[in-house]
Order: sequence, then structure tokens, then C-alpha cells
Amino acid sequence: MSARYRVEIATALCLIAAPFVLPHLGMAPNTVNRILVWGLFGIGFDILFGYTGLLSFGQSALYGTGGFFAAYLLTRAGFPHVVSAIVLGTIVAAAAGYLVGLIALRRTGIYFAMITVAIAEVFFFVEFNPLSEWTGGENGLPGVPTPSFNLGFATVRFDSGWSMYPFLAFWYFLGIVIALRIVRSPVGVALRAIRENPLRATAVGHDIHGYKLTAFVVAAAYAGFAGGLLGTMQGFMPPEAFHFDTSGQLIMQTAIGGRGTLFGPLAGAAVWLSLEDFLQGTLKLGAAWKLVLGLVFVLLVCFLHQGIIGGARDLYRVLRSRREQAPSAAAPVRASVGAAATLHHAAAGYAGPILQATGLSKHYGGVVANEGIDFTVNAGEMRGIIGPNGAGKSTFFKMLTCEVPPSAGSIVFEGRDITGMSVTDVCQFGLTKSYQVNQLFNRLTVRENLRVAVLAELRGKFKLDLFARTETIPGLVERVAHTAALVNLAARLDTPVSQLAYGEKRRLEIGLALASSPSLLLLDEPLAGMSPSERAETVRLLKSIGQGRTMIIIDHDMDSLFELVERVTVLQEGRVLVEGTPDEIKRNPQVQEAYLGGMHAEAAA
Ligand code: ADP
Repeated sequence: MSARYRVEIATALCLIAAPFVLPHLGMAPNTVNRILVWGLFGIGFDILFGYTGLLSFGQSALYGTGGFFAAYLLTRAGFPHVVSAIVLGTIVAAAAGYLVGLIALRRTGIYFAMITVAIAEVFFFVEFNPLSEWTGGENGLPGVPTPSFNLGFATVRFDSGWSMYPFLAFWYFLGIVIALRIVRSPVGVALRAIRENPLRATAVGHDIHGYKLTAFVVAAAYAGFAGGLLGTMQGFMPPEAFHFDTSGQLIMQTAIGGRGTLFGPLAGAAVWLSLEDFLQGTLKLGAAWKLVLGLVFVLLVCFLHQGIIGGARDLYRVLRSRREQAPSAAAPVRASVGAAATLHHAAAGYAGPILQATGLSKHYGGVVANEGIDFTVNAGEMRGIIGPNGAGKSTFFKMLTCEVPPSAGSIVFEGRDITGMSVTDVCQFGLTKSYQVNQLFNRLTVRENLRVAVLAELRGKFKLDLFARTETIPGLVERVAHTAALVNLAARLDTPVSQLAYGEKRRLEIGLALASSPSLLLLDEPLAGMSPSERAETVRLLKSIGQGRTMIIIDHDMDSLFELVERVTVLQEGRVLVEGTPDEIKRNPQVQEAYLGGMHAEAAA
């Protein structure tokens, strides 16, 4: 129990010890309080940026919104209760975050970031101009009361300096406890998956837009709450809260302290504000202090990619793994691959044609990738697809999994017309594929990778179980272990993907598709790039996985493919050339002439 909550306990102890220790290090109470507010503001931003990979420059808009709403209630609307006003400000900021998120998340990458910049500027303008009557414009809102609580027999006041500290430390602690729950929940797993590989997170069945919006709203709520605390801490709500510089400072502090750590923004704020105090106050450097800050920032980003907290965490992990390495460095144990596969989708036991494509065509401008393909696969069948490069095999798979919409034709899966549906929905129905080029979650371990896929299947495409503990989701542990055994990675569960051998990565690629228990599994060149021994092992693996499943496999290694499948479809120039058993295909003069002959001729040359 205490091991599970060791981060929370350590945080509480540090917060309790801080007022006794920090004065001896020369830290002023107001600096410590400001660090806490920035730290709390940054927790939400870290969930958005560090965990989900969304770099927003618009956090100042939400910080200002929450802060000014609370300050207005307390100074102009006669609202008596400080905490309630801050909570109301938080709700308004979260609602604003929802709307901003709806707009900004329509784009990704640099375009997302640019939209957030524009939104921050719009909020700043609105605060200064149309709303200046309510916000005080460039003067801000003075006279924000400090919190006090009437206990009946006494009144507890949190005025300034160290007497304000317990109030802020309490909220910071609560903020960390909530954030830790979120990042350890299945939603946290989905957020990290989005950061690592949004395409694959979608393909394994997560509604990534819903989760991104969730992260945006959570970050907005933290920003709004911190904005409210800023006003009450200073007794004044400054217009600079809305300033674009506020967003910039938050990003730099998070980078300095370490993103994806939750504590990084606090550490970054401590470095930033202490340097400011020391260089400006003690050394009287004036505005030149930012030169030193810039230097510190560049050095930290160059030499400590994960920031201060990330660097400390990595060091701890290295030391711990050195201690544990001796017995565990043994070669991967060969797990039993013959474990009986269980199908979890409703289609387990589905009989007859599981997939029917009719007249499927895909045109890219003038390029005809596929034309008029009629294709049927029966439940339980192992089908191979071959064809020279450019024959349209990958495009055909992309249409079947609904990654790209067909230009014409229809796809019926298990009796349901899936034409034009999303790849997420189709995966949820039980149709998924492994990619020709690995699409893994590279900074996560094998276990975490498999969890991403299994959770999408167990929980559906979107669920707001923000406070659930991932490891307690029924069936998760067993399903991850079972899939790891199927793809022979049971001994590598805690290894980060970046440390896997190529063959292991290919097996994990198949494992990610298998983890969602598809009733129809498509494998796009599963043997690509493998050494002969890795191929032999993967063919054994595929034979074992294939028992009781429906699979369609594209591969260029025809000897291996013909060993695996019952029927083969040959594509040429985007059309079906011929279909038959491996023996029929080998003997077919059309295929020999158009494909095998060509290959042999190539090989001879
Ligand atoms: P294969 O997998 O058999 O090698 P592909 O499906 O990748 O074949 O490609 C079939 C044809 O479609 C090729 O001529 C290719 O250049 C074209 N093609 C595939 N994807 C695109 C795209 N996104 N835009 C334009 N042309 C494409």
C-alpha cells in the first residue's frame, strides 16, 4: 500500500519540510509561493504537453480566464468565499478550454500550435479591450481577498508569505494526487500512446480526438485554478496572466524541469524564479538576468533532454537496473507459442464469408492503385496476397481497414457494411492489421505497448475512467501476458521498444494487432526485412497464431507464404489477376508469365 503511494507520500513530506528547510537556503516565502502556483499551473500543461505531446501556446488564455473570473467574483460581485470563487473560475476555464480544444484540435503539429498562439492573442485582446470594464484592462483587478476559514472557535487566515504557504501547498498536493491518478489510469495510457504514435493509437481502436480534448480540458482546469490562486496570493489579479509571455514561461519552465514528469514544471519554476531573485535582486543584473537564464536553458536542453526531473529519474533507473541486471540479462526465454488463441469479438465462431469487397477501386488523381476488386474471405481462412511492387496490395489493405476511403465499391465485414467508417470503429468491430513499416509506441515498454491495444478492446474507443487504476482493469494483465506469449515476447515485457532487436519489433508489431483480439487480422509483409532465421521463427509463429483465426497476409517471400496459406490472390496493376490454392498459383501460366517469370528473370539478372 505505502509502496503504491510512495510518490504522494514523498511529495507530502517535502511540502511539509519546505518551510523549515528553504529559508536556510535563502529562499523568500513569496518566491516559494509563486513556485507552487507555477508548479500547479504546469501540472495540467504537463499532462497536455509532456504526456499527450500537444504543445499549446495558449495556456495563458485559460490561466487568465480562471484567475479573472474568480477575482471579479471576489472584488466586484461581492462573492464572499475565496475557494468557491476559484472553483467557479476553474469551471469557466475548463469550459473555455473545451471550446478552444474543439477548434485547435482540428489540426495537428505546428498548425495546432499556431492556432493556440492565435487564441492566446485573442483572449489577451479581449481582456484589454471589450472586457476591460470587468477585468480592469491594463490595471488588472486589485483588492482580491486572501482566504480565511472560520472554524467556529477560531478563524484561520492565510495572508502572505509563509502564512499563505500551507494554503497553496495543500492545493499543489491535491493537484499532484489527482494528476498521478490520471496518468496512471487507462486514460493516461491512451494519452502516452497518442504522444508516441497517434496513427497507431487510432488503429488499435482509441478515439484519440476524445482523449486529446480530455487532456485539453484537464490542462485548462489546472490553469484556471492556478490563475485563481495567483489573484488571491498577490491580492491582485495582474493582466500579465493573459500575456503570451506567460505561456512561453510555462513552456520553458516545463522543458527545464522535465516534461512528462508532473514535477518538472515545479522544478523549472524553482530554477527560473530563484535565478530571477538572485540575479536581479542580489547581483542587480537588471534585465540582463535573462541572458543567464537563456544560457541555462540552452545548456539544460542540450545536455539534459528530459530536464532536471527526467534526468534524475533516468539516473535512478540506470542505477537500479545495474543492481538488478546480473540475473536478468539472460537471453529471451522462448515462450510457448502454441497457447490457444481466444477470440473476444462477437464474431468468434462466425461462419461463412467474413469479408466481402465488391468493385473496390482507389484512384489517386490519375493513378489507378486498385480497380474493381471483388474479394471474399471465409471465416477461419488463411489467405495470401501477392503481386509485384506497385500492384496495389498495400492500398487494398488500407481500404479494407478503412484507413483510406475507396473511390468506388463496398466492403462488408461480418455482414456489416463498413465502407467509409473510421479505422477506430473498424478495429472495434474486430478487423485490424499489422503494418508493413513498424508502427510501435517507441518510448514505451513491450508491456505498455500491448496494454494500449488491449485497453482499447476492453474499454471501447472512449471511456472517461480518469481515476481507475490501469492494473485493476479486469482481464488486462492476463490478456497482455497471453499476447506476449503468442508473439514470443514474454521475457521482454519490461524492455523499452527502442532496445528490441528488429525481429522482436516485427513480432511486437504483430502482437499489437493481435492484442485487440481481431476476428480478421491483416498482415502487411510480416516477414519484411528479416534474416532467414527470423523468417523461419516468424512463420512458425504465424502458423500457431493462425489456428482458429481468419488472416490475410501480404508478403514477397512466396516460399514462406505458400507454406502458410490455403488460398492465394494475385494482384497485378491494381486488379485481381487470378485466385487459387498455392499449387494452382504456382502452376498457373498467367502468374508465371506476369509475375513469377518476371521475378525469376529479375533474380537471374
Ligand atoms: P504495393 O503495396 O503492391 O507495392 P501500393 O498499394 O503501395 O502497391 O501502390 C499502388 C499504386 O498506387 C502505386 O502506383 C503507388 O505509387 C500508388 N499510390 C499508393 N499510395 C498513393 C498515394 N497516397 N498517393 C498517390 N499514389 C499512391
